[in-house]
Amino acid sequence: MRPETLPCCHLCGERCAVEEIAGAGFGRAADLRCEACSAEAPGFARAFAFGPYSGNLRALIRLHKFEGTQELAVPLGARLATVLRSVAAETEAPVLHVVAVPLFGSRRRYNQSEQMADAALRELRRSGEAGRFLAAHRVLRRVRATESQSHLTPAQRKKNVRGAFAVRGDVIGWTAVVVDDVYTTGATAAECTRTLREAGAANVYVVTLARTQPERVERWGALDLG
Ligand SMILES: [Zn+2]
Repeated sequence: MRPETLPCCHLCGERCAVEEIAGAGFGRAADLRCEACSAEAPGFARAFAFGPYSGNLRALIRLHKFEGTQELAVPLGARLATVLRSVAAETEAPVLHVVAVPLFGSRRRYNQSEQMADAALRELRRSGEAGRFLAAHRVLRRVRATESQSHLTPAQRKKNVRGAFAVRGDVIGWTAVVVDDVYTTGATAAECTRTLREAGAANVYVVTLARTQPERVERWGALDLG
């Protein structure tokens, strides 16, 4: 079987190895776990992505993020809205607080994740589906700058973002939806989740537009993601 046709971990979306699938037997797709999630469940309930970080999606994300093409927030937000619908279908929580991963200071003129999240919420509002979603970007802030993640290994990324975020305000009992553009190793998503959970959030979902898969890159350093 070609790697890209293998099913993905139900929790984090990582493409599973043949051995992991064989180990899971012929159970439900919802029971499939990658090696990392089997060893230790991630802090978030589940991570959703619109698609793989490749082709047009990758090109659009990079134009939006690095080239200042802010109008792309609208079509990217429409794609993100479909992912938010999946979260709404997954949980019965009455309110879903949408929190974009914050940037540090003013390194960029705009936060691409926040723009996309807001565009997605506008899209859902237009179709009358935004009822349970509430934008709450301000509760999470970045308290220190982090090194660019592009040349770091998964373990180094984890260390790099440790303690980088803080909660401002009351999130006790919240079901939060952390929004980012790309899920690479999950280090940023996991750290945002940890910060929110420690401050009292009951549940965290992670929503990204794209997700990388390890077999697509020779090494993590091949990606220049923030
Ligand atoms: Zn997993």
